[in-house]
Order: sequence, then C-alpha cells, then structure tokens
Amino acid sequence: MSDVRENILRIRERIAAAAVRSGRDPSEVRLMGVTKTVGDDRILQAIEAGIDIIGENYVQEAKRKIELMGKSVEWHFIGHLQSNKARYAVRLFDMIHSVNRVSLAEELNRRAAAAGLVCRVLVEVNLAGEESKSGAPPEEAPGLVRAVSQLANLSVRGLMTMAPWYEDPEKARPCFAGLRGLRDRIDAEKIPNVTLRELSMGMTDDFEVAVEEGSTIVRIGRAIFGERTG
Ligand SMILES: *Cc1c(COP(=O)(O)O)cnc(C)c1O
Repeated sequence: MSDVRENILRIRERIAAAAVRSGRDPSEVRLMGVTKTVGDDRILQAIEAGIDIIGENYVQEAKRKIELMGKSVEWHFIGHLQSNKARYAVRLFDMIHSVNRVSLAEELNRRAAAAGLVCRVLVEVNLAGEESKSGAPPEEAPGLVRAVSQLANLSVRGLMTMAPWYEDPEKARPCFAGLRGLRDRIDAEKIPNVTLRELSMGMTDDFEVAVEEGSTIVRIGRAIFGERTG
C-alpha cells in the first residue's frame, strides 16, 4: 500500500473517532486533500485512494493539474484570490473558500455571469485577527454574507477559517467554536436563499478539534502527502 493511501486511511479513522466523540455522524465530514506543491503522481494516488475534493492555493498551478487530471473529483480553491484571477477561478473551481471582501465577490459574480454559471463560495473569516491571514474580520462576516446573497451568480454555502498555529491544538478550539457560533448567528437572520451548511476548518495539526466543533470539510495537506518541499 502506498504511504499516501495509508495516511488517508489513518486520517479517516481519526476523523470518524472525533466525530463520534462529539456525537456527530462521520459522514458529515468531508476530507479535502490539499495539494499545493505536491507532485502529480502523489495526487493521483490520493484520488485512487478515494479523495474526492482537491484543494489548491494557486490558480496557475491548479489550472495545469485540472487540465491533466480532469474533473472526476471536485477542485476547490483555498488560497488568497486576487481579483484579476477571478475570471479563471470561476471556470476552474467547484467551490471557492476564500471570499473575504465585497469587491472580490462582485468580480467573481461578474465573471460567473459572463461564463453562464453559478459559483459556490464560502466566506473566509479571520477569527483570531492575525495579520498574516486574509479572512474578513468576524464583525464584517454577516454583512459580507448578505452582500454575496444578493449576487445572482454566486451561491454562498458556508464559512471558512484558518486557526493560528499552536503547539497544543486544543488552543485552536475557541477559534473553531467561534466560526460555528458565527454561522449559527448568521443563519438565524434567515437571509433569503442562504443556508450556511459548510464549515471549512481544520488542517493537519488541528483537524480533530475542528471536527469536534462542527467542521464539514477538513483541509489536509502534510498529514496525507508529507512535508512540503517546494
Ligand atoms: C496549506 C493549507 C492547508 C493544509 O495545511 P496542512 O497543514 O498541510 O494540512 C489548509 N488550508 C489552507 C488554506 C492552506 O493554505
């Protein structure tokens, strides 16, 4: 068995255990393989092992891989998106996790309309207020969701966050619980056409805590593919 397959099996076991611990059904949690800088052969091994969502951070890199590997899996964009890449992003990706400002949403909407499609998006929130992270501040998230809900060619499906890195993953729990609480508050507003089903949260070092706090998509790179070299 390849190490990629082995790693995926282990992670699925850990996701299932975390879900059960918190009274959730493990099938509510989807596992994304994060493949920035990962070579094609290893991505194909992951797809063979059943990974059906691939997350990419760079539009150019993703474009090449998608053309090579095709759309038998979902391709999600999880990186910082510049508005001038919106035109490519709406065509390439099944979901964009990193909508963090109204101007980007408007540009994506324009490009999706021109391409005749509806683009699924998540609103990225920077709960811990770290300078290095590009999400919207939590107090702006409800307004951003309302703004996106007005755009006919975007469909907002949930929220995404990246917790700060901590030696002890327990320290990330308030961040994940905070995203869930924010989602519940926005859903309670009953914005027309908006149901925030997805919570995209949890990475290699903190995914079990994220699952316990309600994650529906965990984004895992290193625990599947090993340390990134490039
Ligand atoms: C790189 C990346 C991940 C995966 O991180 P790992 O620690 O390798 O699991 C998840 N989400 C985002 C937004 C990333 O940029």
